[in-house]
Amino acid sequence: MSSKFSGTVALVTGASSGIGYATAHALAELGARVVVVARRKDRLDSLVSAIEQSGGTALAIACDISDRASAEAAVRQTVDCFGRLDILINNAGVMIIGPVVENEVEDWERMISLNQQALLYMTKAALPHLKASAQDGTRRVADIVNISSYAGRVASPNFAVYTMTKFGVNGFTEALRQELASSHVRVGVVEPGAVKTELNDHHKGAIGDDIEAFFASIEALDAEDIADGIAYMVTRPRHAAISELWIMPTEQGHRA
Ligand code: NDP
Repeated sequence: MSSKFSGTVALVTGASSGIGYATAHALAELGARVVVVARRKDRLDSLVSAIEQSGGTALAIACDISDRASAEAAVRQTVDCFGRLDILINNAGVMIIGPVVENEVEDWERMISLNQQALLYMTKAALPHLKASAQDGTRRVADIVNISSYAGRVASPNFAVYTMTKFGVNGFTEALRQELASSHVRVGVVEPGAVKTELNDHHKGAIGDDIEAFFASIEALDAEDIADGIAYMVTRPRHAAISELWIMPTEQGHRA
């Protein structure tokens, strides 16, 4: 356990599995107190136990952040418990793909409400605390890292609405980076290619088969590869901001 981030507090959304889970571990390893947010309480509780067993400090908040009041309450509870917030990792996301003509509108709404609206709720609620940390914290800088996707850079068939949500995350990130530059709240985006997580397991039928075949055809990334990238971003010196990090499996030429 490093003391690099001792005194700092990080909040990771979507921490019950995949990239968020690995990122919570990585930030705890750096010495941050970590607040882990997702809906599955049992998963969060075992993550907290694992972090505590390694000598770290963590708090589980089980909630649905696509509900605005719950997202705001998660930030409030973080600050009530630890007195501050230095790092926000907006990671929670869902991907439901398929041809636009066949997609269910409810699935589009789910993606928009989590991938975009929840990210906005979390960011807005966190900003006053991040700005305060950038002013008076020992690091004198604070961080927001938004998890976008390869699909936030490149459009492909079957990914239309997921792609729309992630292109939006990229645009929002860069606009906010510029707004906050002088306040030393760094805002960056990570765009992973294919990562072995539960995200890719939700599809049945032909689309599910395509995804499975695609993952079998390359050596995909592990969640820890993305957590490494995030840890790199938030450990840069105060004057250096990584505004965009595109992490691909070496063998990935296209999505699917
Ligand atoms: P996972 O499915 O493993 O993780 C998604 C996380 O989001 C889970 O912890 C889930 O927890 C949480 N979540 C889902 N809905 C909600 C909700 N309403 N409120 C709070 N938390 C919620 O997938 P990944 O780790 O792969 O995904 C993380 C991010 O990475 C996403 O933004 C995804 O778009 C992005 N990404 C992933 C890629 C990949 O190939 N895996 C590639 C590019 C980007 P719970 O169900 O307990 O709420």
